[in-house]
Amino acid sequence: MSNQNLLSRSLQSVWHPCTQMKQHETFPLVPIARGDGVWLYDAEGKRYLDAVSSWWVNLFGHNNLRIKDAIKQQMDMLEHVMLAGFTHEPVVELSEKLSKLTGLGHAFYASDGASATEIALKMSFHYWRNSGKSNKIKFISLQNSYHGETLGALSVTDVAIFKDTYAPLLMQSAQMPSPDFRLSEAGESAEDYALRCAEALEFYVSEHHHELAAFIIEPLVQCAAGMGMYHPVYLRRAREICTQYEVHLIADEIAVGFGRTGAMFACEKADLPFDHFGKLREHGATKVSDIADFICLSKGITGGYLPLSAVLTTDKVYQAFYDDSTAKGFLHSHSYTGNPLACSAALATLAIFESDNSLQKNLEKSAFIVNKMQALTNLPIKHLRHQGMIFAFDAVTQNAQFSKLSYQAALQRGLLLRPIGNTIYFMPPYTITEDEIAFMISATYDVVKATQ
Ligand SMILES: *Cc1c(COP(=O)(O)O)cnc(C)c1O
Repeated sequence: MSNQNLLSRSLQSVWHPCTQMKQHETFPLVPIARGDGVWLYDAEGKRYLDAVSSWWVNLFGHNNLRIKDAIKQQMDMLEHVMLAGFTHEPVVELSEKLSKLTGLGHAFYASDGASATEIALKMSFHYWRNSGKSNKIKFISLQNSYHGETLGALSVTDVAIFKDTYAPLLMQSAQMPSPDFRLSEAGESAEDYALRCAEALEFYVSEHHHELAAFIIEPLVQCAAGMGMYHPVYLRRAREICTQYEVHLIADEIAVGFGRTGAMFACEKADLPFDHFGKLREHGATKVSDIADFICLSKGITGGYLPLSAVLTTDKVYQAFYDDSTAKGFLHSHSYTGNPLACSAALATLAIFESDNSLQKNLEKSAFIVNKMQALTNLPIKHLRHQGMIFAFDAVTQNAQFSKLSYQAALQRGLLLRPIGNTIYFMPPYTITEDEIAFMISATYDVVKATQ
């Protein structure tokens, strides 16, 4: 289908996400015919470097042969079977692998991030109910948090543009001060600011714990808030406070999981000196299970190939549902729960991490990108920051249209950026090469220069 044909038919029939459709009267859609590596191509061969991994999902490039082959092989065996009453090899293998990686031994599946949030919230609430604490029905999250846009997930999300319209439909939840370092006072260190936010959290939890089921957070980086990064000491303190006051901690690693922050999971970077049992840990041996009662995973889990999400939790939570009574069980389901094709894509993605030593390679690549980004400091920008394979800065500009204009200016130069407010960020596929990095940064330089 030609570009023009695709565009006009799309506008007739497709209601695009996160979009005021009328704006497309003046602001064309981008028609994409195929992908390869970090590149997206239209029907006429014009290409765009996908610096945002297509909404943060594509970890190892488009047209990844290993993931593609794994899905093809699985397709010849079994494309789908319902997971209630039935099981299959890909879902078992994936659950075992995720359990080993996180220390959380029980995996529940859905198909998108928002559903994972819903599952974690419902499971936490139901755990307390099954444990005779049915007054623990409320949730807290951070200011500027993003946990998805279904009604439950939106209730703990704190982004006005997504939330305000639907406020009458949502459950009430309280937002704790965000440890995002950009919100600190002048002269305050990231660590001091995170500790100050943790104090506010402790105060709130100490007063409300009898009605609180869980605290849900995005570990280390509040991505949708514009890559708001914070000191890991906050995770450690949040764990301590939640343990002291018997409140669950839900780690929403939908965006930051699978290597984005440099560790396999961001929670590992809390670097706790002691494990749950008070045993001294080696440096760098912190597991997700030391921090979180639940972890939500999605986005990169299949390398961007198929929709899949998972919530993993502890044996303690699992046991509270294990009973002769059906009603005490977790009676939640989605038609595609644990889809074999999606699980096979996830297994192939995890296999790439292992065989390619991706975490180690990403450390080197991250340092290379940080170094190249120094060139951007000539521009009117602030808060140049990174965390593993997430890189961001905030343009200093009076232009209220900055995000839209810079998005368009980048497309004209063959670069897909998706600025959030005045924040420009890179979350490239891990397979990005040095030449591609150089192009991404020099094109971004020109974009900011042309747009401020
Ligand atoms: C994207 C995202 C979600 C929602 O996932 P969807 O698959 O878009 O529903 C939830 N939490 C975080 C942190 C995310 O980045």
